[in-house]
Amino acid sequence: MITREALLAKFTSYSPHVDPTALELAWDFAEKVHSHQARASGEHYLTHCAAVAESLIEWRMDLPSVCAGLLHDTIEDTATTEMQLRAEFGEEIAMLVMGVTKLDALKFESRDEAQAENWRKMLLATAQDIRVIVVKLADRLHNMKTLNFLKREKQERIATETMALYAPLAHRLGMFKLKGELEDLAFRYLYPEEHLELSQKVAALVAGSEKNLLETRAAIERVLAGTNIPCRILARSKTLWSIYGKMGRQAKPFEEIQDALGMRLITDTVANCYALLGIIHTNFKPVTGSFTDYISTPKLNLYRSLHTTIVSPTGELVEIQIRTEEMHRSSEYGIAAHWRYKTGESARDAHMEEKLNWLRQWMEWLQDLNSPREFLDSLKTDLEFDQVFVFTPAGEVKVLPAGATPLDFAFAVHTAIGFSCVGAQVNNKMVKLDLPLKSGDICKIITKKGSLPKKDWLNYVKTARARSKIRHYLREQGIVA
Ligand code: MN
Repeated sequence: MITREALLAKFTSYSPHVDPTALELAWDFAEKVHSHQARASGEHYLTHCAAVAESLIEWRMDLPSVCAGLLHDTIEDTATTEMQLRAEFGEEIAMLVMGVTKLDALKFESRDEAQAENWRKMLLATAQDIRVIVVKLADRLHNMKTLNFLKREKQERIATETMALYAPLAHRLGMFKLKGELEDLAFRYLYPEEHLELSQKVAALVAGSEKNLLETRAAIERVLAGTNIPCRILARSKTLWSIYGKMGRQAKPFEEIQDALGMRLITDTVANCYALLGIIHTNFKPVTGSFTDYISTPKLNLYRSLHTTIVSPTGELVEIQIRTEEMHRSSEYGIAAHWRYKTGESARDAHMEEKLNWLRQWMEWLQDLNSPREFLDSLKTDLEFDQVFVFTPAGEVKVLPAGATPLDFAFAVHTAIGFSCVGAQVNNKMVKLDLPLKSGDICKIITKKGSLPKKDWLNYVKTARARSKIRHYLREQGIVA
């Protein structure tokens, strides 16, 4: 656990002009009121509060947010009252803690759509101040990191909720690093076998590509040495869940996913981004059609970077992303990266305003939605998501990679349901078993006792889970090798 002094020092490093007394008080207060409590891991409860505050500091959130991070569970889990918080820490911090507490009170019970509706209402109510959601996201991140101490059933519920609500929310806020972390943590509990297999493959790929990446890096450093363009080079790896999603969408095995690993060049100005691109393209062979300019044409979520794929000195393909420090911070931390400008000394950030406007519009639009399914769907519209949320007739939500079909859904519900599947209804209409499902679809699987998997099913499924179950059966029957 981070110490009180280290936490204070980290906060002061980016907020030198802010008096951190409230932070010290909040630490001491949390330590006192949680003193009799332990986490499921057996650790002192304060470790959780400190971890949440530490994330908020990593995202460079303001003082009230970090204090609220330390205090976020005091109302729910201790005898502390709202009045007490107000008296000790003032209106703003008390309001943030109350907002997080209200979000906590809502469990997104997947079996009951009414709960999704509650969640939507509460989100609207608390989203008056977006910092509430950011604190909640920091809370969720630490809970996901410590999920292994909970019972299997609880793990699944929390992981589903994370995949269905919190990861899309992080995406909405442009917090891509957090989104990737949440998805990979949830992936591990939702598809344990696939997660294990893929993480081993990625580890092997990283080990096997070390020489290639080192040589590429050295070659880039050599050609840049003659220029005076400031540049730092980072290695990057795609997240497991996004690789899994891509394998499903493009029906490709892991070995054919080309951009699992890559590099980032980070420089100071937009002009230097293009200068770097020119140097890279002059010195390495670019792959035709691989160049995308997200600086002149940012993505809808305002992501900006130049992307290109080159042939490395060892003859392998390497994806290169080029961006400024500001674009980098902004794409890792999203809305949080801009937070301090809002209250701060610096000029108002047009980019931030754009993002906030977009969020406000979205929030307004949420008020007009009729069904909770529309709400879940709205979390995903306009964004290139790698997953779909599909409901059972009982309202239970299943998270599947994009492109998944009713057969995948059947196997996600239960292997026995998959095996005896003879047809499917989506939104009350009979459909073919290879129809790609959309978020919000209600899928009903029709089964027949004694019915068994067919060979052509292998062409209909996108998930590794369904594929391996079907293949296993066909192999046992001697139908495929
Ligand atoms: Mn908590």
